[in-house]
Amino acid sequence: MMRYAKIILKEGKEEAVLRFHPWVFSGAIKRIEGEPKEGDIVYVYSAKGNFCGIGHYQIGTIAVRIFAFEEENINAEYWHEKLKNAFMVRKAIGLADKENNNTYRLVHGEGDALPGLVIDVYGKTAVLQAHSVGMHEIRETLAKELMKVMDGRIENVYYKSEATLPFKANCGAVDGYLIGEDDKTYEAMENGLRFHADWIRGQKTGFFVDQRENRSLLEQYSKGKDVLNMFCYTGGFSFYAMRGGAKSVCSVDSSAKAIELTKANVEMNFPGDSRHSALATDAFKYLDDMKKDEYDLIILDPPAFAKHRDVLRNALQGYKKLNAKAFEKIRKGGILFTFSCSQAVNKEQFRLAVFSAAAMSGRNVRILHQLTQPADHPVNIYHPEGEYLKGLVLYVE
Ligand code: SAH
Repeated sequence: MMRYAKIILKEGKEEAVLRFHPWVFSGAIKRIEGEPKEGDIVYVYSAKGNFCGIGHYQIGTIAVRIFAFEEENINAEYWHEKLKNAFMVRKAIGLADKENNNTYRLVHGEGDALPGLVIDVYGKTAVLQAHSVGMHEIRETLAKELMKVMDGRIENVYYKSEATLPFKANCGAVDGYLIGEDDKTYEAMENGLRFHADWIRGQKTGFFVDQRENRSLLEQYSKGKDVLNMFCYTGGFSFYAMRGGAKSVCSVDSSAKAIELTKANVEMNFPGDSRHSALATDAFKYLDDMKKDEYDLIILDPPAFAKHRDVLRNALQGYKKLNAKAFEKIRKGGILFTFSCSQAVNKEQFRLAVFSAAAMSGRNVRILHQLTQPADHPVNIYHPEGEYLKGLVLYVE
């Protein structure tokens, strides 16, 4: 224990940690005993010298990400147990060994008491993503223990952290396989629908795993509808709408690569189906240019408009503008699926932005569903910041 540096908190600053909040902000630190490097394990103590937790140290606003609130030996077995616990949760949810679904999030950072770590499973491949230097440094151990926990369910572990680590130059993250190597088909399945999750070149870990349940709900609303899937990325909502019996589906994304992926994924599930069209263009421009009453089902799933609190106002304006355009153009009796994945925007703020947009259009709008992230993206009850995905399903009279 002596070899670990000690982080001593200012008087009173231990309160959040005693309530199991996993973040220690740099401003809460009174002094550091020892010389921890970024990514090192550190012990956190109150000003009075009481033990508070063990975490990974990093230079930045969040100075320590706590993973243990009790004194424990932090070794390979420790990480094995944590990964096993996360896997048990996915078993409890019913996602671990499903017949028609091999895509799910196995580790969701703070939500699984593993701050700084994300693991998504796509069939035989797990994609491991570090958001902290500490998790980066133990990636080999995590990959090895993950293989044991998964007990033959996966064959490959791909590491993808170049874009998510703060000081790439310092910790030298290089993306690549830690174990095995996939045959490069990247084929995966969600609720019986097939798709390519290109974890090497794609955004995030290759696919937006967090919209699975919301896509299923959309499927139920799609029969006979003309559907516009705005910000489609790999086309998840589009192929669900098609299975749901949509009359037509138009997928829009500003990225030509995304449109290519969407077309390929739709083709994989519905070869030669002429109901689908796709267009690479800006969402705001598309909504401005399109005629009124073209669509009766519109999905708005934009990228996070606010990555930080200081751009919150602009982000809320962005949501308002975007939704106002949809309210203005959607057919009478239309359904709008609208989302925000900005962590900095809370449920009430998002709702208010959408309310203002509805008011601008002057139409009668009912909330049918309030959506969030699925169970494999759990929220740690002591870390409300982990609730990031918000969605509303609205009936527009
Ligand atoms: N709905 C998707 C995820 C959306 S991610 C799914 O279910 O998988 C956000 C997408 O918005 C990205 O693919 C990005 O390329 C696209 N995007 C960002 N800005 C845009 C803009 N101004 N117009 C259209 N698409 C945009």
